[in-house]
Amino acid sequence: MEQKLSERVLNMATSATLAMAAKARELRAEGRDIIGLSLGEPDFNTPDFIKEAAIQAINDNYNSYSPVDGYADLKEAIINKFKRDNNLSYKPDQIVVSTGAKQSLANVALAMINPGDEIIIPAPYWVSYSDIVKLAEGVPVVVSTSIENDFKITPEQLEAAITPKTKMLWYSSPCNPSGSVYSKEELEALAEVLRKHPQIYIVSDEIYEHINFAGGHVSIAAIDGMYDRTVTVNGVSKAFAMTGWRIGFIGAPAWVARACNKIQGQITSGTNCIAQRATITALEAPVSKIQYMIDEFQKRRDLVLDLLRDIDGFQINVPEGAFYVFPNISSFFGKTLRGHKIESASDFSLYLLEQANVATVTGEAFGNPNCIRISYAASEKELREAMKRIKEVLS
Ligand code: PMP
Ligand code: GLU
Repeated sequence: MEQKLSERVLNMATSATLAMAAKARELRAEGRDIIGLSLGEPDFNTPDFIKEAAIQAINDNYNSYSPVDGYADLKEAIINKFKRDNNLSYKPDQIVVSTGAKQSLANVALAMINPGDEIIIPAPYWVSYSDIVKLAEGVPVVVSTSIENDFKITPEQLEAAITPKTKMLWYSSPCNPSGSVYSKEELEALAEVLRKHPQIYIVSDEIYEHINFAGGHVSIAAIDGMYDRTVTVNGVSKAFAMTGWRIGFIGAPAWVARACNKIQGQITSGTNCIAQRATITALEAPVSKIQYMIDEFQKRRDLVLDLLRDIDGFQINVPEGAFYVFPNISSFFGKTLRGHKIESASDFSLYLLEQANVATVTGEAFGNPNCIRISYAASEKELREAMKRIKEVLS
């Protein structure tokens, strides 16, 4: 039978992070000793105190549909978290709990974007932003940032990208893939531009909030004039090592939250009830309970930076958060390594996979064709071995 897929899916790219993770899994199953540094996923187990809350929820017979936007007491815990960590005051009708921050972002896109609306996305950006925007028939306006400016968009670049069609600005801080963290001053400067353009909304993806080695996470919604136009996205996947539990959430203007609730009510309903119960325990805990993971990520960042600096040809910024390094490897373009011509970041990433058995992700997927992303959410032993192998195949 003829295969007739929608233009929508035909125009959509496959998630490069998930594709590389799948490829690494496949090669491992064939017996290859692959070190996976492609997926942004903590290698820790979910902390016991959170697992116990989930077991308790099962025993307490949480097994029915939850409210579409999340249990009331979970929304309360999220409200308290926003107050405690972000100086943001939300009411329950401004919170929507979803199946991962990924669904939170998709909800917002479908709720707010009309065909042709322009969405400014500073590059490098998280792999799914542009395709989620396109799914909603928006037009990603990608603004390239430079390693010299720590991969952050400047107020001048933002101003220059704005047109009468601009609807939103989407960014993450700490940033996946660059690890960059916007300071309060930097966000104030962006807010000053945005104040001149009141038609623009903001999606602030703060899922790496706690994985911040510089300290001082700032939510743009807390800056003068930004609260009513910002959707703050967060979740438990990263800081609480709960990627598979699938819980994300937003704090947003009530009209946006209502629309997301409506969409979710037709597409997925409320997310997994056990994961929601466990998330209450996660969010109510003091951040000190997960500090051991953050400290470990910082140690690994320092280790990876040290080891990479020892390899010729990598240009690197010092990432202050998340768990990625995003080196510029364009100095290898045009070279032939072990008979393989390197002409792009994809060639380079594939070369590392084939020759060094190390899985990374090409920067092209993040809107920067000169870089690759290396996740250091892996053990020290794996990181040392991976960097040794990379050095060998590049020398
Ligand atoms: N935003 C960013 C910046 C991410 O790196 C991720 C990675 N998972 C997500 C959103 C989605 O997270 P999740 O759906 O697991 O909550
Ligand atoms: N966000 C993670 C990453 O960037 C997980 C994979 C995904 O959801 O795309 O690798």
